Amino acid sequence: MSATDPNKYPIELPFPDISAYRNGNSGVDYYTTFDSGVSGPHVLVNALVHGNEVCGVIALDHLFRAGVRPKRGKLTLGFANVEAYQAFDPDEPMASRFLDEDMNRVWDLETLEGARNSRELQRARQIRPLVDTVDLLFDVHSMQHKTAPVMIAGPLEKSVAMAQGLGTPDIVVADTGHAAGRRLRDYGGFGDPNSEKTALLIECGQHWEADAAQVAIDSVYRWLLLHEMIDAKLATPNLRPLPPRQRVVRVSAPVTVETDSFEFAQPFTGLETLAKGDLIGVDGTREIRAPHDDCVLIMPSRRLTPGATAVRLGRWVD
Ligand SMILES: [Zn+2]
Repeated sequence: MSATDPNKYPIELPFPDISAYRNGNSGVDYYTTFDSGVSGPHVLVNALVHGNEVCGVIALDHLFRAGVRPKRGKLTLGFANVEAYQAFDPDEPMASRFLDEDMNRVWDLETLEGARNSRELQRARQIRPLVDTVDLLFDVHSMQHKTAPVMIAGPLEKSVAMAQGLGTPDIVVADTGHAAGRRLRDYGGFGDPNSEKTALLIECGQHWEADAAQVAIDSVYRWLLLHEMIDAKLATPNLRPLPPRQRVVRVSAPVTVETDSFEFAQPFTGLETLAKGDLIGVDGTREIRAPHDDCVLIMPSRRLTPGATAVRLGRWVD
């Protein structure tokens, strides 16, 4: 098998120095809150839950440099796993996704309040009181593989509807997360159908492709516009055309790795559509085949360790 090694993708994006944003005013390093003084939601635009996903850094840097301030409510701009970001090594660019553990798998109460510790958990615990005050979270990410951008809306209809309100990207993934732990986008009220809190997670493209930064900038301005935080005049110069339509793919099942020898049947990069019975991969001696026709592969991973998500399977909702 000759799978594409994500370490081999060219690094087309700069990694901006963000030390100027360290002393934010929120009480949490690298989180800055702008308060309009007018009633309205608390909106968080968040980058760097994964340390090597630089497109979100570039989008936040753009908002800071443009002097963006909310017309209503509060706007917080934050960089999560700064320590991992600062450990980025262009010779081994996949290594700085995290330092000790995936920061997007620790957002359940047992983990946050439990005895276990790691650098990512420490940082999550620092950020958590601020996140608890957020009504609308936009979490900016990118992907290992060069795949079309997707919005990860989670399992709840409220988030799918918000993704459709945003209008981009053209693919919205309605999913249930990962066996390995809860994501920030599913934390607390974001994951509660009875709460008005809502979160979206955008995957802007391959981690270091130039276009991912453009997707990130477009989407953060659209997010602020959607929530009436900024004027159209400020947003418009930074927007790209909307896709002609959006499609929703609903995840039916995650494929969770069980052994130390998981291999994909082909060098999948994501959004391939398989027919029922097509071979997806082999986990030890277990063959994993598409359980139904029109089976869409979502974000196949190269971190194929037991307990991790190898790939998620979905189908188009029309
Ligand atoms: Zn990510």
